Amino acid sequence: MAAETVAKAGHRIVIVEQMPSPARKFLMAGRSGLNLTHSEPQEHLLDRYGLARPWLHDALTSFSAQDTIAWANSLGQPCFTGTSGRIFPKSMKASPLLRAWLARLETLGVTLRTRTKWIGWNTTTLTLETPNGPETLVASAVILATGGASWPRLGTDGHWTHALPPETIAPFRPANCGFTTTLPPELHTEYAGHPLKRIALTFSGQTTRGDLMLTPDRLEGNPLYLLSAPLRNTIEHTGTATLHLDLRPDLTPEAAQERLAATRPRESLANRLRKAYRLDPLHRALLRTALPKNTPDTTIATTIKALPITLTAPAPIDRAISTAGGLRQSALTPDFMLIGRPGTFAAGEMLDWEAPTGGYLLQACLATGKAAGQAAIQWLAQTNRETS
Ligand SMILES: Cc1cc2nc3c(=O)[nH]c(=O)nc-3n(C[C@H](O)[C@H](O)[C@H](O)COP(=O)(O)OP(=O)(O)OC[C@H]3O[C@@H](n4cnc5c(N)ncnc54)[C@H](O)[C@@H]3O)c2cc1C
Repeated sequence: MAAETVAKAGHRIVIVEQMPSPARKFLMAGRSGLNLTHSEPQEHLLDRYGLARPWLHDALTSFSAQDTIAWANSLGQPCFTGTSGRIFPKSMKASPLLRAWLARLETLGVTLRTRTKWIGWNTTTLTLETPNGPETLVASAVILATGGASWPRLGTDGHWTHALPPETIAPFRPANCGFTTTLPPELHTEYAGHPLKRIALTFSGQTTRGDLMLTPDRLEGNPLYLLSAPLRNTIEHTGTATLHLDLRPDLTPEAAQERLAATRPRESLANRLRKAYRLDPLHRALLRTALPKNTPDTTIATTIKALPITLTAPAPIDRAISTAGGLRQSALTPDFMLIGRPGTFAAGEMLDWEAPTGGYLLQACLATGKAAGQAAIQWLAQTNRETS
């Protein structure tokens, strides 16, 4: 987005990408449906960036969700709004959008150099590692968009942090990730890959809904990712975090009590749970972890609505969807220029903000890319330098 913005202003652009092909994480994001942005009112959308809201406010206001939709449309990818309010291209995939985007960049004269790694500066020139050995590159302005540190095999290895002063970087932490639990390991093994459908999760006053999945060593799923920042922060401070799982969110607590009371007490508990709540074996196995034998019906019904699950650690950073941490706001001017390196700008997930899944990640990457591009154009005009 930064390259597109600056190239449209008539400057010559070289994109340096260390992988053999560009945008591998963007393509990966499209594997399960490319969620480009969100349709909720702008004020709510801004709130998703938490403490970074004031920092990102101007960029997200200048390039809003509507602008993202219009931009995708201009690349031949009309969008639709899903039932959850999330916005996707109709094709659901990233590849058609990326193909059209790369073609547009080529038309704008942008050069893409793959297998080329930026490793730092030699005073003012950029130093690169290329298949033909080390090289330098002189540029009148530079925009860094080297991403976070999750999924390093897609190119986002976070090594760029070595090229910048350590005090300008907040350590990377996993975001939008699964968690290890204190559930019995055999339960993880037996039910790995089984979904927990249409549940609600509550932590620290926030409730999310959707499907969860047990894996051999973690609990995963969108409703958990949405709570991952407060869960991770609590684990960092206290060692564990306990969330509450509502197995039947559409039942009121009273209805949950009545349904169990309507079953025959002489039947096995498994049968009563199946009949009262249509609980499947995974639900029942989870309940057993929280209910000692001969638990009274009232407690069982309460637990159906608030089953405690204790989490002990977030997934490792390389398995997280995104990362918190990166280049600190204090290291940048309000228009994303590195204070210590005039003429160098930064955008995207490499900046120290985080947001839940829901299209907020790509929305902020596109918006900060646009803002950094516009700031670079202004800087070039002020310093009257032409790109080379
Ligand atoms: C499985 C998965 C699903 C996702 N789904 C969604 C979704 O549906 N919606 C959403 O909003 N977000 C989603 N995301 C997150 C989203 O993909 C990222 O937030 C976004 O791609 C970040 O964009 P970026 O341009 O800042 O960095 P990246 O897309 O990470 O790109 C950075 C690029 O810089 C290159 N690079 C790094 N260091 C160097 C260097 N030193 N020299 C040269 N090149 C370098 C990397 O190879 C990479 O190509 C998903 C992520 C994952 C992993």
